Amino acid sequence: TGSVVIVGAGHAGFQLAASLRQAGFSERIALLNDEGHLPYQRPPLSKAYLKGTGGPETLMFRPDKFYQDNKIELITDRAHAIDRKARKVALASGALLGYGHLVFATGARNRLLDIPNAKLDAVRYLRILDESQALRDLIAPGMRVVVIGAGFIGLEFAATARAKGLEVDVVELASRVMARAVTAEISEFSQSRHAAAGIRIHLGVQVIAIEADGAKVTGVSLSNGTHIPADLVVVGVGVLPNVELAAEAGLRVASGIIVDEHLLTADPNVSAIGDCALYTSKRFRGSLRLESVQNATDHARCVAARLTGNTEVYDGLPWFWSDQGPDKLQIAGLTTGYDRVVVRGDRAQGAFSAFCYRGDKLLGIESVNRAGDHMFGRRLLGAGASITPEQAGDASFDLKSALT
Ligand code: FAD
Repeated sequence: TGSVVIVGAGHAGFQLAASLRQAGFSERIALLNDEGHLPYQRPPLSKAYLKGTGGPETLMFRPDKFYQDNKIELITDRAHAIDRKARKVALASGALLGYGHLVFATGARNRLLDIPNAKLDAVRYLRILDESQALRDLIAPGMRVVVIGAGFIGLEFAATARAKGLEVDVVELASRVMARAVTAEISEFSQSRHAAAGIRIHLGVQVIAIEADGAKVTGVSLSNGTHIPADLVVVGVGVLPNVELAAEAGLRVASGIIVDEHLLTADPNVSAIGDCALYTSKRFRGSLRLESVQNATDHARCVAARLTGNTEVYDGLPWFWSDQGPDKLQIAGLTTGYDRVVVRGDRAQGAFSAFCYRGDKLLGIESVNRAGDHMFGRRLLGAGASITPEQAGDASFDLKSALT
């Protein structure tokens, strides 16, 4: 293989470097890191880190010594251009790095809002440590925040901000929260919980402008004519995969860098993993680009295995979690395309799962505060098995009996 250059030191890039060494890979590994921190975990940025008082070191995957001990060259720089013929990466600093194999682990960046006053200082985003730190330092009890977008990150931020004593309004264009990702059962439960915590959720409306007095944000105006006063606006309207570098290098990109079922591009010396990769899924018979820790780390393990001689088709089972206030949402499998939802557990008690079916085939399980159902789902679906909708809805049916 020769040396491996990994562009991006997020969940995918870090895991690839670590898994390569674990598998006995002995050539050079260069891990390009453009964030000015040791590689760190992203999920706490909208949860524990935002809420807590611990320093950035609490987020790091591993201390500095790990990279030295494992001879992983962590290079603080950005890949600027790729010459695939010469197999060289030009860095922003001007240096050139040769590679035997190149891996794009460039992740995604915030989708920016394009409305009046969106560039003011009090309009914030939440993707990287520096943004989370800045928000944590800024938010204070009594402050009024409008969150734009009721996806996972918007709702996680909203719950944390509310717990810290802020006045919180969430504005969402869709008719329910997390509409792209979960069933109506979970959306409705989540809405009621956030409302009970004192968060005001505005559905089916759009923020059309941010209002300001000079450089100071004073509120937002909505498409239905409503005005919401605010000191701070936090935007969570999704991300854009970082595909430009790959496209400029002549690789095919669409809604991600296009890779096959081995996570390899059309160039046998170039792979792409994690949030930036649009991969061919054998399991789902189509192209997928997912944004999750599971996807990033399982992709990384698959490429590490290939580069050390154990080529396998990527076949990880998607799973995901989101912590919102006291509630833990977990998803096993991919629930898109369901035509039937069977609820197991007790909605009123705040602990239930939505088993999503297409016909009689279980596609996935969305759980709130039912970790056992989630773990069951990962094992069952991972094994390619199913239980019937009747079994799922029968509280006396022992899930474990289906796992033999
Ligand atoms: P990233 O983590 O985005 O890392 C890519 C890295 O590459 C970045 O550091 C970027 O700066 C760098 N880079 C880009 N271009 C270049 C270049 N040219 N040169 C050098 N470096 C470059 N997932 C879950 O499963 N559960 C959760 O609860 C959850 N919560 C989340 C909360 C927040 C606030 C956020 C932002 C994400 C959350 N996610 C969660 C999603 C998860 O963090 C991502 O799916 C994961 O980080 C993807 O890893 P990645 O390595 O592909 O990309």
